[in-house]
Amino acid sequence: MHELSLAQRIVEIVHESIGRHAPQTVRTISLEIGELANVHVDSLTFAFEALVEGTNLQTASLQITSVRVQVLCKSCGTFSTVDGVTFECPRCGSTTLDVRRGRELDITSIEIDDYTEVNHGNSDR
Ligand SMILES: [Zn+2]
Repeated sequence: MHELSLAQRIVEIVHESIGRHAPQTVRTISLEIGELANVHVDSLTFAFEALVEGTNLQTASLQITSVRVQVLCKSCGTFSTVDGVTFECPRCGSTTLDVRRGRELDITSIEIDDYTEVNHGNSDR
């Protein structure tokens, strides 16, 4: 199950970043997932919540941003966004494309509440 191992990796990476027994409360873990990464967001969220239950990450929620597929046409050099189904250069119709974005599975940020820090409320975005 792809989503479960992915959720495990996310937990590992977060633990490496904040420390396994860190007192901080993790609020949000932001992820960028490419449309070609074949990740079911619901399954990933479910697996993650099951994994972190009862741990110091149980307050964390995943914020997942889907990344559009971007390709570079090898024939005409046009950089374009495609829908991930039709792999065709919108300019010249070539199907010889180099996928530049859309396969990523990245943690872009980890938002923590550090209770030594006074929150003056600029978290509204
Ligand atoms: Zn082209």
